[in-house]
Amino acid sequence: MADPRVAGLAHIGVAVRDLDAAERAYLALGAQPLGREEVASEGVRVAFLSLAGIRIELLEPLDAGAESGVARFLRERGGGVHHLAFDAQDLGATLRELASAGIAPIGAGARPGAEGRTVAFLHPRDTGGVLLELCEVKE
Ligand code: ZN
Repeated sequence: MADPRVAGLAHIGVAVRDLDAAERAYLALGAQPLGREEVASEGVRVAFLSLAGIRIELLEPLDAGAESGVARFLRERGGGVHHLAFDAQDLGATLRELASAGIAPIGAGARPGAEGRTVAFLHPRDTGGVLLELCEVKE
């Protein structure tokens, strides 16, 4: 039987206009850079950092004028905490559990995300106002 539970906080996603400028503050606090990548499917460039054992994902839109979620978030809210991400041991089982509670993921459901992981997003209207990302744990 697949376990639909989440295993922990994967990271906190923060939308920023300028990745380098935002990263400077975290590095000054002692954060370790964990790598950067472009996630074309989400229209973002991301930098992962580890600060006091917490993983932070800074997200900068590839095109600030685009209709991607992060670009719109920056235009409408001016940046800040964009999503909370949790590790899901079995993403398929988690999504089935959510479906039985009447909650559907955004878009087509599971999709490729950062770090080569399969991810799914839950709409803020279903979660009390915060976008949730579920990241499948790689074996
Ligand atoms: Zn994320």
